[in-house]
Amino acid sequence: MAVKDIGTHDINKPLLFSGNQAMARGAIEAGVALVTGYPGTPSTYLIEALLKASDLGFRVEWSINEKVAFEVGTGVSWAGLRSLVTMKMSGLNVASDAFLSVQYSGTNGGLVLYVADDPNTYYGMVEQDSRHYARLAAAPMMTPSSPQEALDYTRRAFDLSEQIGRPVMILITTMLANTSESVTLGKIKSIKRKPSFEFNIARYAKAGPAACVQQHKDTLSALEQFGSLTDDLNPLTLTESRIGFITQGITWNYLQEAVHLNNLKPCTLKLGVANPLPKEKIKTLLSKIDTVVVLEELEPIVEETVLALRAEVDHPVKVIGKTHGPLSLTGDYNVDVVISVLHEIYGDKILRPEVSDDLSRQVQALKVKRLNTFCTGCPHRATFYALNQTIEKLGYKKEEVIITGDIGCTILGMNEPFQACWTEICMGSSISLAQGFKYAGIKNPVIATIGDGTFFHSGIPALLNASHSGTNVTIIILDNYWAAMTGMQPHVGTKPYSEDKRIIMIEEIVRAAGIENVRRVNPYQIKRMIPILMEAISSKEISVVISEAECTIQKERRRKTGVSLKVRPEKCVGLDVCEHSCMKVLGCPSIDRGEDGKAFIDPTTCTACGLCHHVCSYGAV
Ligand code: SF4
Ligand code: SF4
Repeated sequence: MAVKDIGTHDINKPLLFSGNQAMARGAIEAGVALVTGYPGTPSTYLIEALLKASDLGFRVEWSINEKVAFEVGTGVSWAGLRSLVTMKMSGLNVASDAFLSVQYSGTNGGLVLYVADDPNTYYGMVEQDSRHYARLAAAPMMTPSSPQEALDYTRRAFDLSEQIGRPVMILITTMLANTSESVTLGKIKSIKRKPSFEFNIARYAKAGPAACVQQHKDTLSALEQFGSLTDDLNPLTLTESRIGFITQGITWNYLQEAVHLNNLKPCTLKLGVANPLPKEKIKTLLSKIDTVVVLEELEPIVEETVLALRAEVDHPVKVIGKTHGPLSLTGDYNVDVVISVLHEIYGDKILRPEVSDDLSRQVQALKVKRLNTFCTGCPHRATFYALNQTIEKLGYKKEEVIITGDIGCTILGMNEPFQACWTEICMGSSISLAQGFKYAGIKNPVIATIGDGTFFHSGIPALLNASHSGTNVTIIILDNYWAAMTGMQPHVGTKPYSEDKRIIMIEEIVRAAGIENVRRVNPYQIKRMIPILMEAISSKEISVVISEAECTIQKERRRKTGVSLKVRPEKCVGLDVCEHSCMKVLGCPSIDRGEDGKAFIDPTTCTACGLCHHVCSYGAV
């Protein structure tokens, strides 16, 4: 059965689901009325799975950013219906203002916040541990260890949220989000509720200190209630062993593999809840053992609690973790990490899982060398090529002009061959950072580069701020119509995705911000693009260039033209001789070295964007 059947009522057949898909199914089974969020890998594929499904009977949509998504979800919850809001860990930073406030006000319909952490930063950004947010907001947080648990916990989280009257967080990590297993489905609840909302500013506003303090007290009580309702999610297994393990989330699976391989039977406490921690169970475990290993990725949050509780046990207990032990604060765990800890405790008799040489060879053979650069035919390649050319034509060296970068595909402009973007902080920061550089007194031009999705997400306030201040920066908005980096999600300005929705025009927003020096240009028209950039960067006032061309991947999906460009070998002087070689200057993945040392264009991937034709001064393309 395919993912499009995720809403099936046939629950007799288990389905192969990733952690993300299992959570999506859990929300369906819980009778959710709204699923919304902002794309951010690894969380993206929950909403993607729902969007691929047919006739789910509830609303599923991408929001403009995580804070807005959470607020929309809150409105649904306050009106008595159920909602799920999804985001990656960086998105939780964006949503946190709303999240903390709503946590204090509480919920009516079940409100579940799914956040995906990314230990080892497989997808970039800060390697943060979102469990801190649960503690900060006194928010209940569940940490499933498998796709089956992801489904079961999600379904139950809605009931729990309604029982305690607070949002419930579910945290999974990249490995679990992407791991698949055969999952047993449950029945889909049909929830028909009449939406309603009462006037009650003591709950739904922050109406003075007394109300705020009361909200805080109520939040703490709700958290305690959540702890007693979810005791079964933290199973404690006591054996004859004087060694114990505490696991959180997916680390449970690594421990299981390691102990089964070595036929060990330690005591275990499997934490399915990250907040509140089951302190009595931890104390019971400590009272039965001499050594405890805490397996949790990133911060030593459980470990610190264990260290504090150790003082309440009447005999010494050695705690092995990050504070006193070999486990790392960075990166993710795996079976090898757990085996290394077992070595410390049990000595050399510990076995490692065997990986056959043949399998290792097959894995090595699958590795593909690839530049970390724009896709074949990407319009951003044209923009950054033109930008570098412009800076040179204006008489500056590259290191004399600061170009701030932003989140999304556009940041690939920091890599070879362009090495244009100097910075990457967070969504929308390129514009405000550029303003700051100017405030500091940087005399040379400062240029901000930002993609369309990022501009809508968080760039608009920065644009208004820069315009209001009259700061002379140049802002290049690279508009390819899609949130492309996360897999082509549409946004409020996606033109080929109109359906019944209003398309928001970037140019109109920029002009409404009072900026008059605004130009729209197709970056593939290099001869037109460079003078426009020169004029904008030389301007004595704030200027905006909207570099607009649809993401080639999306365009090609619709058109499937199959047209490509060719190199004429008799004209190509050779990649080693050519002083401005297309391969080096553009880094297009479709340009390769032929056996004769000349450029060769792969006809199966070239999208005929024409950029190499422009670059070649020998007329060879
Ligand atoms: S035309 Fe040239 S630059 Fe454009 S996709 Fe084809 S090979 Fe790459
Ligand atoms: S730019 Fe032209 S001459 Fe130079 S390597 Fe490419 S195809 Fe050959």
